[in-house]
Amino acid sequence: MTGIATVIENKDLLIGGHWVPPVSGRTIASIDPATEEVWATVPEGAGPDVDRAVAAARDALRGPWSRLTATQRGRLLHVLSDLLERDAERLGRIETMDNGKPLRDTVGEVRRAVQWLRYFAGAADKVEGTVVPYKTDAHAFTRVEPVGVVAAITPWNSPISLYSWKLGPALAMGNTVVLKPSELTSVSAIELGRLVVEAGFPGGVVNIVTGFGRDAGARLVGHPGVDKVSVTGSYPTAQAIMRAAADGLKRVSFECGGKSPHIVFEDADLGRAVTVATHSAFRSTGQSCSLGSRLFLQRHIYPEFLDALVRRTERIRVGMPLDPATHIGPHTSAEQLAKTHHYLDAGRAEGGRIVTGGGRPEGLDKGYFVQPTIFEGLGNRSTVAREEVFGPVLTVIPFDDEEEAVRLANDTSYGLVAGLWTRDIARAHRVAARLEAGTVSVNTFRPVHWTLPYGGYKSSGLGRENGLAVLREYAEIKSVVIDYSDAEPDDPFAVA
Ligand code: NAD
Repeated sequence: MTGIATVIENKDLLIGGHWVPPVSGRTIASIDPATEEVWATVPEGAGPDVDRAVAAARDALRGPWSRLTATQRGRLLHVLSDLLERDAERLGRIETMDNGKPLRDTVGEVRRAVQWLRYFAGAADKVEGTVVPYKTDAHAFTRVEPVGVVAAITPWNSPISLYSWKLGPALAMGNTVVLKPSELTSVSAIELGRLVVEAGFPGGVVNIVTGFGRDAGARLVGHPGVDKVSVTGSYPTAQAIMRAAADGLKRVSFECGGKSPHIVFEDADLGRAVTVATHSAFRSTGQSCSLGSRLFLQRHIYPEFLDALVRRTERIRVGMPLDPATHIGPHTSAEQLAKTHHYLDAGRAEGGRIVTGGGRPEGLDKGYFVQPTIFEGLGNRSTVAREEVFGPVLTVIPFDDEEEAVRLANDTSYGLVAGLWTRDIARAHRVAARLEAGTVSVNTFRPVHWTLPYGGYKSSGLGRENGLAVLREYAEIKSVVIDYSDAEPDDPFAVA
């Protein structure tokens, strides 16, 4: 019997400014990962719904939206950010029910999404074309124009954050959007849709089609009416989408996974490094693209650091996500829990020693819970150190010198973030320059912020999100030349 009084039924998709049921009439059940019970349903959008949404987004491109000034678009984004701020607690609770992250994390994420929207609201009217010194007797300039209809595809691990990462710059630049959230955590996308309507965006500027990736998602990314595809998700999904988007050469940007190195040199502030390394490995139950999941410790400090790390890890409170005392909640899905167990088995089979964790936390008999786990004795090429677990599983590996640390850190197919701890300023610069990652942090880890471009080297992605750098991902640059010379033009076809 469900502990939830009523299952919340969300029946409609947001298409063209109207709430409409999916053509199929079907729904998807949303599971509360802490109880394994259905707590809400969302509509199962599919091909025909995607077609309607793309058509609505195309119409909106030519409609009232196209006549708004950049300042007016920014104003609408500000209104949306205020509404998100107003509803932060409520949306955080929804996300906690869907995703299993503790309430303080999800409410915090909504508040950060507010900042993201405000940043891009402010940026909307600061993007300028340039005058180009092409030649005399001509006025040459560039116009910055929207790309068109944007397909925004998001995962389940940080839903609200990632809506803001995509909607903020896409709308600031005047695009229209069809958002397809993860089938596992779609309720907050529908709530966001309600706020978009309340904010007063013209119909069709933001369309929300919930549904499965293989169905609604696949139709969307291959749709001839879509101009740009922006995806946050796994590497195999990104590959499939890149192929689907090849027709018509759609613009694409991808934020994929990571297997991020976190290096601690012996001269570091070890106390701070332990605190940050623990959090960086286990926050969000390890369900983050930017975990410090490979921890490299200089050999001399290895035993002492590992000891402190284990003690710190064993104080992490795994529990029910609505309990304010909880530090980390369950995995978001049974599938993700099974994946973590698969990697725990692989680590054991390859000779790894679990120094803490590895099982189900005591007293939590239901829900997709697992203890934060630290492996030692696994090499950098082991399965657990090579593949993205997306669970609270940390591999600790010793190194002897700077050269070896950099070599091990870069020996991965990923390149999203990397971090190092040292008090040596020269080493900080040297190593930061050599690490192959889109973000490198020294004496902190993973500084993700609306002002900082974020994205991956290698298989971690293509393009950048955040910062002003992202705006060009949502724009076309048009060169315009107006010739005002009254001289006769050269005539290569002249007949002598
Ligand atoms: P996923 O790739 O399974 O799904 C992501 C989204 O793509 C979902 O909305 C899904 O429905 C959709 N999708 C799946 N197949 C599709 C297809 N063929 N066509 C169109 N859409 C399709 O990823 P996930 O399991 O939801 O999320 C976890 C992954 O996301 C991890 O690899 C993680 O590292 C990555 N991630 C990256 C970042 C980042 O910023 N780099 C942030 C969060 C998560």
